Amino acid sequence: MMRRDARIFVAGHRGLVGSAIVRRLRDAGYASLILRTHGELDLTRQADVARFFEEERPEYVFLAAAKVGGIHANSAYPADFIRDNLLIQTNVIDSAYHSGTRKLLFLGSSCIYPREAPQPIPEDALLTGPLEKTNECYAVAKIAGIKHCQALRRQYGFDAISVMPTNLYGPGDNYHPENSHVIPGLIRRFHEAKTSGDAEVAVWGSGTPLREFLHVDDLADALVFLMEEYSGEAIVNIGSGSELTIRELAELIGRVVGFKGAIRFERPEMDGTPRKFLDSRRLRAMGWSPKWPLEEGLAEAYASFREREAGE
Ligand code: GDP
Repeated sequence: MMRRDARIFVAGHRGLVGSAIVRRLRDAGYASLILRTHGELDLTRQADVARFFEEERPEYVFLAAAKVGGIHANSAYPADFIRDNLLIQTNVIDSAYHSGTRKLLFLGSSCIYPREAPQPIPEDALLTGPLEKTNECYAVAKIAGIKHCQALRRQYGFDAISVMPTNLYGPGDNYHPENSHVIPGLIRRFHEAKTSGDAEVAVWGSGTPLREFLHVDDLADALVFLMEEYSGEAIVNIGSGSELTIRELAELIGRVVGFKGAIRFERPEMDGTPRKFLDSRRLRAMGWSPKWPLEEGLAEAYASFREREAGE
């Protein structure tokens, strides 16, 4: 069990996932959080990370720092995705082990699974087939992180666990017009179309790919639960258990935003993987389940987007 005064390092605490973990930990009464901005500690620099761990000696580490992006960013900057992620995760996992961290939680991603994996995707589909090309470099880095954690457990008994979240959204998301994921990208585009009175919004792809979405506060709740309750080599999927097509998602976001115009699908080569639905029975069997219905979560995400826009 984690003590309420345990020294907990949340790597990546300014990001979508890290900021949600910090909110969740503070709500639960964890008071000794160790946080560093990118400017204070560059996690790609091995010597700096090693020194930080020697000085701070965190007992628990949530490794939520990563270079992430949507389908466009992954296709456009593959070298940055493989390099930055390998450096960040190797430095943090290695330093945590060497400085005596009690437990580390590594965040993978549902894109680590083969493109043609059985659906819903069970954890043991890992490394059974070729990956989706558009995010292969990111996925290979994340797979290396999983294997690093499993190997440290096997060889040295280090308590490192890995989890695979499905597609995420929520407050603190990246709303960049091109480099973001589909939900923040479409929230921005529908909002701007509504504001400028456009008759149409463009959505990438054919509209037919299926995706599963999880609110980041549900994810953070699951992560703290697993840090408290779970130890083992087996990776753990974290999904919401419901999926919809990109067309249905776009229509839902249009309703939430209040856009009355039409939706046009363009650039069919942008579909990415046809379906990515996680089998989350392992986590459900441990007694955890998500709370946020998608439509409510989208309304909250839209409200937080508008607050940000107003603040800028
Ligand atoms: P993925 O799950 O790794 O493919 O991540 P994304 O969130 O980037 O994309 C999910 C799906 O939404 C893909 O089929 C995209 O082509 C589609 N999509 C439609 N419009 C957009 C958009 O504006 N931004 C992004 N990122 N994806 C979009």
